[in-house]
Formats: sequence, C-alpha cells, structure tokens
Amino acid sequence: MTDIAHIIDFHLNAERQGPGSAEDTLRALEYTGLAGRKELRIADIGCGTGGQTLSLARHLDGHITAVDLFPEFLAELNDKAAHAGLRDRITTLACSMDDLPFESGAFDLIWSEGAIYNIGFEKGVKLWRDYLRVGGYLAVSEITWITPERPAELEEFWQAEYPEVDRASRKIRILEENGFTLAGYFYLAPESWTDSYYHPMKARIPDYLERHGHSEAARAVVAEYEQEMAFYQRFKACYSYGFYIARKDG
Ligand code: SAH
Repeated sequence: MTDIAHIIDFHLNAERQGPGSAEDTLRALEYTGLAGRKELRIADIGCGTGGQTLSLARHLDGHITAVDLFPEFLAELNDKAAHAGLRDRITTLACSMDDLPFESGAFDLIWSEGAIYNIGFEKGVKLWRDYLRVGGYLAVSEITWITPERPAELEEFWQAEYPEVDRASRKIRILEENGFTLAGYFYLAPESWTDSYYHPMKARIPDYLERHGHSEAARAVVAEYEQEMAFYQRFKACYSYGFYIARKDG
C-alpha cells in the first residue's frame, strides 16, 4: 500500500475528513439565503465522503456535483447517498479541483469545506469564480488565525505547512479583490474540531492499526495525526477554520 492509500484508508469510514459539523454547514447555508429556491445547481469541491454533501442535499432543492480527487471517497459518498434516498440528487466526479470541466456560470452555489488549501485559497477563489453565475455564492472554509499574535513555534509550523495561513481580514480582502462581496463569515468552534473530527478519528485508530497488522506505514499515519491533534490542543486559541460565504459580483 502506498502512503496516500494508507491516508485514504484511515479516513474512509469517517463522516468527515476535516473539522466541521452539520450545524456549521447549515449556519453557512443561512448566509446564502438559497434555502427554498428551486432547482439549484450546486458543486461541492473536495467533498471527501460527503458529510456536508448530504446536509446540503437534505436542505436544498436541486442537484449537487460532488468532486474529489479520490474515487474511494466518492464510492463511500454514493453508498451513503443511496442509503439516504438521495442518490439521484448527487453526481460524483473524480477530478482535481484545479482542472474542473465546468462551464462558465454553471452553478448557483459552490461549496468547499476544509479543502481549498489543496490548491491555495487565492488560486481556488480565482479559478472557481467563473463557474458561478453572477449573484451565485461561494461558501468555503479555510484555516485562519484568530489571535493578533502567535507563538513562534506555531507560526513556523503553519508557514511550512500552508504559507497562505492568515487572518480573516486577508481572506475577505482576497474575496473582494476577486469579484466577490462577503455575505457572512464565522469561525468554527473548538467542538467542530474535537467532537466532529478528532474524537471520531481517535476512536478509529485501534481498528485501523489492527486492519493493517500494526505495519510501520500504518503507525506512521497514526503518529502524524496524533501529533496534529496534540498541536491543536496546545494552540487552539490561535487558529481555527474560518467559514467564508461570498456572493459573486456582476
Ligand atoms: N469536505 C470534506 C473533506 C475535507 S478533506 C469534509 O469537510 O469532511 C479535503 C478533501 O480534499 C479530501 O477529501 C481530499 O481527497 C480532497 N482533495 C485533495 N486534493 C484534491 C484535489 N487536488 N482535487 C480535488 N480534491 C482534492
């Protein structure tokens, strides 16, 4: 098994592959005012196994194109959608988020939770804008500083991990400079990291290690996530995900 196959397997039977909860999804959705509209065209980019995709399908009328790089996650999403009776409302597409086959103005709403960092916030905002109709919404969550200053160790970690890490004002400015007007934003609460993401992850570890005979590669994956969780516990006062909801200008 390759390293990436290990990481996929570690996340496969999870409800979410990043911080965020159904409540966060609905809170962000409120800012769009799209609930109640008919036949919406929606894209969910970096959908993973579709925690938020299913929430969107339950609360909006229309069709969702759910995109992820990894077919394994999409297969899981298709199973869940079938189970929930939502299979005909969701089409999955295995594709990279920087090489999407969409036409200009194809969507009323582009959603992306905990995923845009894969190509970078600014690049994603610029690339995806074209796929929205004027007046359509982009809703995206992105790692964000929530204090004016941070310990050097934390700064260094994130600068190495994701140099675009910044405060909300910078993210909002990027949206505005690229033809969007902010409709609202909020920070994910610590529970959206712990209850929705890290606690279920922790609970999956024994079974995951068992499944892989405690191989070196499996232990390496676990060690990396344990380190990430410990880091979050130490520094959670300083960072979270910001959820940004913005409307495409004319
Ligand atoms: N939105 C989900 C998953 C977030 S994790 C949730 O919040 O639970 C980030 C997701 O982005 C993963 O599912 C990963 O497979 C996907 N991903 C990573 N690089 C990608 C790329 N280049 N194109 C599309 N998806 C990508």
